[in-house]
Amino acid sequence: MDLWYTENHQEDTKFSIKVQEHIHSEKSEFQQIDFFRSETFGTFFTLDGYMMVTEKDEFIYHDMITHVSMAVNPNIKKVLIIGGGDGGTAREVLRYPGVEVVDMVEIDERVVRLCQQYLPLTASKLDQDNRLTLYFEDGLKFVQEADEGYYDLILVDSTDPIGPGEGLFTVAFYNNCKRVLSEEGILINQHESPYYASYAHEMKRAHSKIKETFPISKVYQFHMPTYPSGHWLFGFASKKYDPIKDIKADEWNKLGIETKYYNTDLHVGCFMLPTYVKKQLDNEE
Ligand code: SAM
Repeated sequence: MDLWYTENHQEDTKFSIKVQEHIHSEKSEFQQIDFFRSETFGTFFTLDGYMMVTEKDEFIYHDMITHVSMAVNPNIKKVLIIGGGDGGTAREVLRYPGVEVVDMVEIDERVVRLCQQYLPLTASKLDQDNRLTLYFEDGLKFVQEADEGYYDLILVDSTDPIGPGEGLFTVAFYNNCKRVLSEEGILINQHESPYYASYAHEMKRAHSKIKETFPISKVYQFHMPTYPSGHWLFGFASKKYDPIKDIKADEWNKLGIETKYYNTDLHVGCFMLPTYVKKQLDNEE
């Protein structure tokens, strides 16, 4: 009998992947965690029934959450990752020799341990680089208590604004991010998707809150085959840097970081949004 993983993208729209094996299933203190194996997407895992990471397309998400900010300020030294339990974001950040400190705050230790077991390439740097410190606690609380002006970059690699990720989409959280960022600081965060109504609603909410908090706030897009509609967004917020005008393309290219999705031409293009997305973000629709 065929086995399929199916996710509801909206009430009348589902996305399915034919599965070879349902490898693991458990309920942690925070969420339902499932791992599957499939031919097209390799091993993948879900939290509370929502796709997180697949072996085959994770490079897109992890390139785009990491390299855009690093090309704007290649001198980033202190990085805070909130969430990101699969390790893909930490793996990309740790490719930069100039990065000195990476603090990763993941609420659910089980996600990390299971990804180390089932997604070893994504999680490969979680126990191998002494610049990285793992904290198993709520990111919301961590930024409340972190020192002012300490980090150059915060990457919010969180779940959607339901369950444990909810607090990471609030003005209080963004204000604390601003407080703990240096004057050079950049915040990259989940901005959901513009296409289906419920995701677009969260996109607009996230953007309007960040706009209230940071003087510079832009949105960029990328194509993620396994996320709802395949069209996904991150927010770029900063006290100082405009992500297009301030890109250091030559400097970044000289670093020789090989990427499969990101490049410095795409960097500029990814901030050029379709009209219907711009209108929604400007509250015209
Ligand atoms: N790439 C994924 C996506 O966009 O669907 C995100 C993957 S990553 C696994 C998300 C992680 O955020 C989860 O492991 C979850 O446990 C963690 N998380 C959710 N809320 C959190 C919070 N308040 N503090 C720290 N980590 C949190």
